[in-house]
Amino acid sequence: MYKKIKGTEDIYGKDIKYWYYIEKVARETVRLYGYHEIRTPIFEQTELFVRSVGKETDIVQKEMYTFEDKGGRSITLRPEGTAPTIRAFVENSMVATGLPKRLFYIGPMFRYERPQLGRQRQFHQFGIELIGSSSPLADTEVILIADKFMKKLGLVDYEIIINSLGCEKDRQEYKKALKEYYANILDKVCDDCKKRYNTNVLRLLDCKIDVNYAKNAPKITDFLCDDCRKHYQETKSILEELEIKYKEEPRLVRGLDYYNGVIFEIHHGKLGAQSAVGGGGRYDKLVKELGGPNTPSLGFAMGIERLIIALKNENVPIKEVKNNEIYVAHLGEKARVVALEISEELRENSISVVYNTMERGLSAQLKHAARLKCKLCIIVGENELERDVVVLRNLETGDQVEIERDFIAGTAKEWLSES
Ligand code: AMP
Repeated sequence: MYKKIKGTEDIYGKDIKYWYYIEKVARETVRLYGYHEIRTPIFEQTELFVRSVGKETDIVQKEMYTFEDKGGRSITLRPEGTAPTIRAFVENSMVATGLPKRLFYIGPMFRYERPQLGRQRQFHQFGIELIGSSSPLADTEVILIADKFMKKLGLVDYEIIINSLGCEKDRQEYKKALKEYYANILDKVCDDCKKRYNTNVLRLLDCKIDVNYAKNAPKITDFLCDDCRKHYQETKSILEELEIKYKEEPRLVRGLDYYNGVIFEIHHGKLGAQSAVGGGGRYDKLVKELGGPNTPSLGFAMGIERLIIALKNENVPIKEVKNNEIYVAHLGEKARVVALEISEELRENSISVVYNTMERGLSAQLKHAARLKCKLCIIVGENELERDVVVLRNLETGDQVEIERDFIAGTAKEWLSES
């Protein structure tokens, strides 16, 4: 027997309704804001991610699924959706269709991380990108959509956390101050952070082990230039006018290097260690970095598996997918094809029908119907066929009637709406 790869999941059965639900709410939410779907390949040139996510990030250093294909090219399974979307934006000259461009994606991502609840090696993200606006109005639109999406899902126990990473110059100053701060305590931080001190000092703020040191570290908000401060201020004041609740966290940083300016995360109260359900922010230099024109942009990504945990923990009721509504049983040679015709007629009426495709007796068919949790059963027997009737049975109550062939769909619909 083969087993699935560590850190991956088979998604089926009771969980499927959550996937349908989240994908439907995601699509419906972003449609209302004028976003269009993009589906990029799940693998790309390795260089695309190294260049955009950043050489010194955990993703590029430790987590990418990289392999050489038979043509000797270095290929990577996408660890995130922004770089491929921007690659597609540039490659397909989407700038010609006018800016800003609003895109969204839903799909699997791959990171070689240590699996635990809410952390897998194959996981799924829903994300949006608003490409081509430097205005705080764009920042607020993206945060507004994230908030609206959470609300439409029915979640309440979440918090939006925001910060500004400023521009390149601000970060240079800030990194200097961080280095001074950490220089005195470098012997106390974890081994990974000792390395990050030289390669990516911002990441020390995000260390899950050395949380206490980060608490007293300098804040980036004290290093913002006038423009970045103004942008951040305007974003916050528009959010306030829209009554979108947020919390400022001046030591929030993100795991990907392309971010600048306003960044945010959404944390859920009942997720434990992996509390971030989503995150995003500005990446004003990325389009240019990937060969396009200077195009300030931003976006977010939400983790679908974590959203499902949140929905379950908050007991949000999710409608069952309507399936196996009616079982069509048949007895005898002549009844088989008539039963199939009846099944098709019911399906034309949008009813989910399971037709017996096995050579089974009536009691075995009824048992099967019960196991499939069908609400109704239609029994097509040779004797009844002579009178042009079938039996309709409610499998929950045991009630049954004989109905004429012409009235099957109508009566079945009525019974289904009552059950
Ligand atoms: P990131 O692209 O790292 O900003 O992640 C955005 C969101 O994707 C996170 O808030 C998580 O909800 C989700 N996510 C990231 N990595 C994983 C993972 N390994 N397993 C499950 N979900 C993840």
